[in-house]
Amino acid sequence: MEILILAVVIALVAVGMISGLVVSSRKKKQLPPSAPSSTPTITAPPAEPQVGEDAAPTAEEPRRTIEEVTLPDTAAATDSPVAVEDPVVEAPAAPEIEVPEPTAGRLIRLRARLARSQNSLGKGLLTLLSREHLDEDTWEEIEETLLIADVGVVPTQELVDRLRARVKVLGTRTPADLRALLKEELLTLVGTDFDRAVKTESGVDTPAVVMVVGVNGTGKTTTTGKLARVLVADGRSVVLGAADTFRAAAADQLQTWGDRVGARTVRGPEGGDPASIAFDAVKEGIAEGADVVLIDTAGRLHTKTGLMDELGKVKRVVEKHGPLDEILLVLDATTGQNGLTQARVFAEVVDITGIVLTKLDGTAKGGIVVAVQRALGVPVKLVGLGEGPDDLAPFEPEAFVDALIGD
Ligand code: GDP
Repeated sequence: MEILILAVVIALVAVGMISGLVVSSRKKKQLPPSAPSSTPTITAPPAEPQVGEDAAPTAEEPRRTIEEVTLPDTAAATDSPVAVEDPVVEAPAAPEIEVPEPTAGRLIRLRARLARSQNSLGKGLLTLLSREHLDEDTWEEIEETLLIADVGVVPTQELVDRLRARVKVLGTRTPADLRALLKEELLTLVGTDFDRAVKTESGVDTPAVVMVVGVNGTGKTTTTGKLARVLVADGRSVVLGAADTFRAAAADQLQTWGDRVGARTVRGPEGGDPASIAFDAVKEGIAEGADVVLIDTAGRLHTKTGLMDELGKVKRVVEKHGPLDEILLVLDATTGQNGLTQARVFAEVVDITGIVLTKLDGTAKGGIVVAVQRALGVPVKLVGLGEGPDDLAPFEPEAFVDALIGD
């Protein structure tokens, strides 16, 4: 009899263990790529940031994985037949996923907003060039208009020289002639040869990794969120890395952006190690076969060395997975010369590959596009034209210049 009872107990334990294993593996497979924020895999911070000052994590280091994070559930399921039933049914309902606006032609759709804020530059230039007598005072006013719009001293001089030369041979100056001439010259100044595509194509098995840097307050986190929407709108899958652990609300803010379009956000504790989070984000991107990993970073300009240490470390650690595809610098267009100085510091710290100019809707200083490209030698790739979720547009020189000059 005792032997019989023992056999039944052993059999029950064995059945329990096998169901546990089955549940564990089912759970892993069924983990939705766009799991809601309350799922611990997304929000649970790593037990401890694992990147030491000098000892960055390697792929071999023990870390919390999706499997490990779900283990407590599995253990409970092994003990309780109720929990074994169907873990998927118990999962919280997925949040409603938004469908972002398509990105093609976005700048044209936002042109009215851009044109409104840039009125004084384009319209001012046209009005001045249309004067009957283009005397020295007028040319000085043209120069001033360009300088006030933050075009920068050297590019302003170049443009004025070219305009002077071309107006001279023009003879009669019809408004249409002047508009065409100004458009052509402004386009040359802004540059039509740059490759302005954000690089989001990577290896077959690995996601493209884009790091977003810039001084806090420039719109970095917002831009990272908007960029995730741009990518999702274009059919790409995205993982977000909330490596701005300095600003208290940054991770929540980023996660809200991610949740809205079904992009997973990897985050850590406030004040945690940004490099560790960035590393985990890329690891997660690889694990779930994402197309792109976007990493938001902190932009404290406390000291150049401090910034260099922090961003340099994030970059180094991320590159243990493979090279970075893009480092985007976010710059607030309203900050003028100050913004340019910041841009130069960042460019010394990391190799910027593209510029995102935010808040162009709130300034008439669109000339900063020209100045910052000259200062860093890299193109403006995206522009922010408002606080709305889809107010980020690929930068198109022609649409931009059209907006400057107006119809
Ligand atoms: P971070 O500290 O650099 O991450 O800055 P945030 O992303 O939190 O943005 C700072 C503020 O700038 C927020 O209120 C954003 O809504 C706002 N912002 C960002 N981009 C734009 C833009 O293109 N236009 C306008 N008007 N506001 C923007």
